[in-house]
Amino acid sequence: MTQVFINGARDETNVREFDTLDSSIQELIRAANEARNNAYCPYSNFAVGAALRTSDGAIYTGCNIENGAYAASICAERTAAVKAISEGKRDFVACAVVAQQDTGFTTPCGVCRQFLAEFVTAGKDIPLYAARPSNLPLRVLCTSVLQLLPNGFTFHNGK
Ligand SMILES: [Zn+2]
Repeated sequence: MTQVFINGARDETNVREFDTLDSSIQELIRAANEARNNAYCPYSNFAVGAALRTSDGAIYTGCNIENGAYAASICAERTAAVKAISEGKRDFVACAVVAQQDTGFTTPCGVCRQFLAEFVTAGKDIPLYAARPSNLPLRVLCTSVLQLLPNGFTFHNGK
């Protein structure tokens, strides 16, 4: 049995076959895979695509966009999120991330986890699907923003 390591942990139980996932999730993963083609990553050569579905059913996609001044780069997940939010959509119901790793899956970086957790409202977690851009059938890590970032920072403003 192949072991999948997620952040140092064995997490095989959360890996599913693409074909067994709901068609709306498959569509979201395909959208992330497509967005990956637009990645601008001349420095890392590590292309990432992301897609976020909002509660109205719309899909917003993003890719990583690097910069010669490395700190100015932005990840695929935040690109997708800022596109949606800037168009008035922030009720995220699912997220997909696609990137190529030899083993395991690419999950959002710490900054993106915090960024997405901002939009987990009323305890309504955002399911997150991480996949590789290999030919179908592929396997998908099924997790969530709060699983990836338990106890993230929240701004209580003294309340
Ligand atoms: Zn990130």
